[in-house]
Amino acid sequence: MNRVYNFAPGPSTMPQEVLETAAREMLCYGDSGMNVMEMSHRSKQYQAIFDETEAVLRDLMHIPQEYSVLFLQGGATGQFAAVPMNLMTGSGRADYVDSGNFAHGAMVEAKKYGQARCVASSREDNYTYIPELNPADFDPEADYFYITTNNTIFGTRYASLPDTGKVPLVADMSSNILSEVYDITRFGVAYAGAQKNVGPAGLTIVIVRRDLLGRAMPTTPKIMDWTVMTDKGSMLNTPPTYAIYMAGLCMKWLKKQGGVEAIEKVNIEKAKLLYDVLDDSDFYRAPVQKPFRSRMNVTFTTPNPDLDAEFVKAAAAQGMVNLKGHRLVGGIRASIYNAMPVEGVEKLAAFMKKFETENK
Ligand SMILES: *Cc1c(COP(=O)(O)O)cnc(C)c1O
Repeated sequence: MNRVYNFAPGPSTMPQEVLETAAREMLCYGDSGMNVMEMSHRSKQYQAIFDETEAVLRDLMHIPQEYSVLFLQGGATGQFAAVPMNLMTGSGRADYVDSGNFAHGAMVEAKKYGQARCVASSREDNYTYIPELNPADFDPEADYFYITTNNTIFGTRYASLPDTGKVPLVADMSSNILSEVYDITRFGVAYAGAQKNVGPAGLTIVIVRRDLLGRAMPTTPKIMDWTVMTDKGSMLNTPPTYAIYMAGLCMKWLKKQGGVEAIEKVNIEKAKLLYDVLDDSDFYRAPVQKPFRSRMNVTFTTPNPDLDAEFVKAAAAQGMVNLKGHRLVGGIRASIYNAMPVEGVEKLAAFMKKFETENK
């Protein structure tokens, strides 16, 4: 068996230890005589797995009891609609920062439900930075203020969070949840699809401050209603049981690595390995402005698209796969989430230097 270094943006690489545990438990979890995916979601045994997963997540992110933690389906894209449906019922207005393709998509979706206003955008400049935010521009009556903490496609990250005062800050954290320390109390709502930095696809984590519950539009489908889902412990209907179990294994693995505080340091080091190569080079170009560089998705190009393709192919031949940039931007993108070992990044950095020497 030859495992590759998988730089995919999502679904993405998982800790090998976690896969081994899942393999060991494939035919029989504990003394249950069955796999987790065969269990009733109403069984005691499954509820224990579910509760433990929530507890580890609360522990890793220091989530206080004033927040409800939900394990839902529908992906981050489902939450693009759920956010306005659950919150846009006061003034009917919300501020959106258009810092990337997913931020833009969320704003467009929200316009179906109310006045989603673009408060700042870097769209004209191909999303190569996080736009400057001036609190004087913020709508003080907005039902919420929406950001995307890490831009997966273009490779940018908020260096600091906006101060939105009384207006609840809502964040799509799909591609950097659990990768760096956030003070969750800065947010009204934080949510993430699991398939980038948490576990397998199929699970969407929503963390919502309880005082924001009870505001949903009457037309909100009940499976998207955070209040209903809170009351039902995320089990109004069948939750993504196996994805939750796998995410739980990943979270326990993260806890063993020292938690978010420790992995953040590793993530900074990993990103630096690649950005140092880019900064030392007049061959590669890194389009993102330095203060906004993502630690999770490192984007760059060679001098031309043919060489980009050559790079991706040659890297794959050496066991480093899925380095092709997003179809919207082209070039090369290395996604280096928590589960990507330092060795994988070191190998890529060495390959980048060698490729430069050979193709200059
Ligand atoms: C991947 C991604 C999405 C889309 O997630 P789905 O779970 O596929 O809906 C949304 N936002 C961000 C920031 C992402 O990285």
